[in-house]
Amino acid sequence: MAVIIKTKEQIDILRQGGKRLAEVVHKVSQKALPGVTTDELDTYAYELIVSMGDKPAFLNYKPEGAPYAFPKTLCISVNDEVVHGIPGEKVLKNGDIVSIDCGINHGGLFTDHAVTVVVGETTKESYRLIEAATLSLEAGIEAIVPGARIGDISSAIEKVIKPYKFGIIKELAGHGVGVKIHEDPYIPNYGKAGTGLVLKPGMVIAIEPMINIGKQSITIARDGWTIKTKDRSRSAHMEHTVLITETGAEILTMM
Ligand code: MG
Ligand code: MG
Repeated sequence: MAVIIKTKEQIDILRQGGKRLAEVVHKVSQKALPGVTTDELDTYAYELIVSMGDKPAFLNYKPEGAPYAFPKTLCISVNDEVVHGIPGEKVLKNGDIVSIDCGINHGGLFTDHAVTVVVGETTKESYRLIEAATLSLEAGIEAIVPGARIGDISSAIEKVIKPYKFGIIKELAGHGVGVKIHEDPYIPNYGKAGTGLVLKPGMVIAIEPMINIGKQSITIARDGWTIKTKDRSRSAHMEHTVLITETGAEILTMM
């Protein structure tokens, strides 16, 4: 496992990129309104990114095992879709919950960020799901103190989710990011504190809890990309790109 420690110069670029990406995701999420198609959101994101002189990181990305290159700028995953939803003709309606996940290449370096937002108003349970995802991401980031290990992040996330009794997806995880969109280390959303790799200043990681109202089991849709919950319950996903510093963590995907 080769974890890349970023240089000062790389960190400056990643800071700029993270700020831009946060802006893109924020702007797109404000357009997630009833009657809007997921393709319209995707086109908007593409235009924002390109107008800043950056490149969408997911467009044409083909990781090992993928059936074909990802065809869009955003991953948009609605309701029982967990992650990697492909934007298209789907029309958003009141009450939907929508994960908007985006990566950009700014100055040759990558950042990755996702939010789950509500279209109009939704159910109490869906709000609780999004709350749990948000709080668990915060807890995961707060677990990064000098000398912390990956297991400390994983355990902090799991601890927040447990009392909600939501399903934590085990097959998907956070990851290193920066030189590539997916790097080592692997960062599960469950685990034991005090275990795993020690985090070092200059590491850049994406932390991304993915949780379901129902069971943790997932399945892949016919398009070969979209991951859905097996029991069709709703799923939420929150993600930040985070820099490990001498004193703790700095969220890079913030406006
Ligand atoms: Mg992402
Ligand atoms: Mg990610």
